[in-house]
Amino acid sequence: MWQCFFDMTDNRTHQEGIGDAQDTIAAISTSTGEAGIGIVRISGPDAFAVAETIFHAANGRAYTPADHRKLRYGWIRDGETTLDEVLVSFMQAPHTYTAEDIVEINAHGGRLSVERILKLVLSHGVRLATRGEFTRRAFLNGRIDLLQVEAIHDIIDAQSEAAQQQAVDQLGGGLSHQIKDLKDAILSLLSKVEYDINFMEDAQEELPVLPMLQEAERLEQAMASLIKDSQHGRLVRDGIRAVLVGEPNVGKSSLMNALLREERAIVTDVPGTTRDAIEEGYRLDGIALRLIDTAGLRETDDKVEAIGVDMSRRRMKEADLILALFDGSCDWTDRENLLLEETGDKPTIVILNKSDRGLSSSAVAFLRTLEIPKRPIIGGVALSALTGEGIEALIAMMREYLLGQAPENDVALSNLRQIDLLEKAHQSMLQAVYGMRAGVAIDACEVDLRQSYQHLAALLGEEIGDDVLDKIFQDFCVGK
Ligand code: GDP
Repeated sequence: MWQCFFDMTDNRTHQEGIGDAQDTIAAISTSTGEAGIGIVRISGPDAFAVAETIFHAANGRAYTPADHRKLRYGWIRDGETTLDEVLVSFMQAPHTYTAEDIVEINAHGGRLSVERILKLVLSHGVRLATRGEFTRRAFLNGRIDLLQVEAIHDIIDAQSEAAQQQAVDQLGGGLSHQIKDLKDAILSLLSKVEYDINFMEDAQEELPVLPMLQEAERLEQAMASLIKDSQHGRLVRDGIRAVLVGEPNVGKSSLMNALLREERAIVTDVPGTTRDAIEEGYRLDGIALRLIDTAGLRETDDKVEAIGVDMSRRRMKEADLILALFDGSCDWTDRENLLLEETGDKPTIVILNKSDRGLSSSAVAFLRTLEIPKRPIIGGVALSALTGEGIEALIAMMREYLLGQAPENDVALSNLRQIDLLEKAHQSMLQAVYGMRAGVAIDACEVDLRQSYQHLAALLGEEIGDDVLDKIFQDFCVGK
């Protein structure tokens, strides 16, 4: 249950919804495939009354506060007809998922039981919930902030263990506390600035800017550290986009297959036949890795192949990590150097394939130069996609790259909305720091501080419009 993560009484950042008269909503909260149990959830002021009408407890007792969060056994009946044998939990506001009265009916799984029960509930004046509406109410009722809303979405949507763990940590509220602490610190800085503006001017005294500058610098650094970690947070959440590039026939598809240990990519002797990119999911230490095999890079007159090459370049731009593949049995020439330059400033691992044929001496010499990594090249490895020799070394290098991104903070922002707002907050704080250092009038710096504050408030979901909320909740499922 999500409830156990919170002290429900203190998480109220968005006060707007508290006490608002809300209607009662219901939905099937479990997937309606073949399953042992299915849950119909009801939330709102009439939840208990409706449930008491249709639920017949085996012990014949009506709900008492002692039953709060306890399972009660009985049957759901529509008049004389018993719809199912159930376990029902009554959860009294405000200590519930939505902070409203909630009833959860645990019926038998599959589609029909829960559908019939839901229909019966709706016939009692309850409205069908929209996507994510239970969570939206939890947010509007001030029980969770927007970071925690997004964490709930990410737990459900997680593609890897690491992503799920990160989202659970975010739901725990550690990240929210860090952001709130930063926000509060800006607020007290602002009050000092305002005090100085109002009272010191008359006194014709020199403003004591140094302590304020030091505090602004501290906040700027704390934000910079969170931004740095958010890159890792995003990699964990979305997986790493590792793009395989190289000329046709160097063995990209073979390497992809070797890594995936299955023959899904097309392996062929005809250069340039993998024209579109093939994307496969892969897990490395619980982190999702999206391997993207591209058409390859080489100048060509073939129109179709040229489209593929363009696409490879685009994919390289979107990559988190580039695996640049070469045929190690051939000579390392200027041509190879030029191809490598195409990777720009992206972190790159150079792979010399076909080591089973024996590496050329120039390839060996080039590999030696990579023993001292020169960014953005992380390192070089020789392997054979055919025999599998050296694949482990490549995996170790990728793992090392991931570990090298390890965060300084316990928790990290992970989605683009969050990262974008934090970057804006940081930018404004940096502006304030520069201003103070340059001796700019303190009221000009105040504007920057205020902006930084507002971006952090938006990050937590304070003072944001329905359009932003609608966008976030459209990705939720009904029943969450
Ligand atoms: P791509 O065009 O870069 O995707 O290359 P492919 O994976 O289609 O491989 C091109 C050819 O090289 C095929 O005949 C593969 O069997 C062969 N090949 C790939 N990797 C190796 C390797 O490590 N050693 C040897 N000897 N041949 C390989």
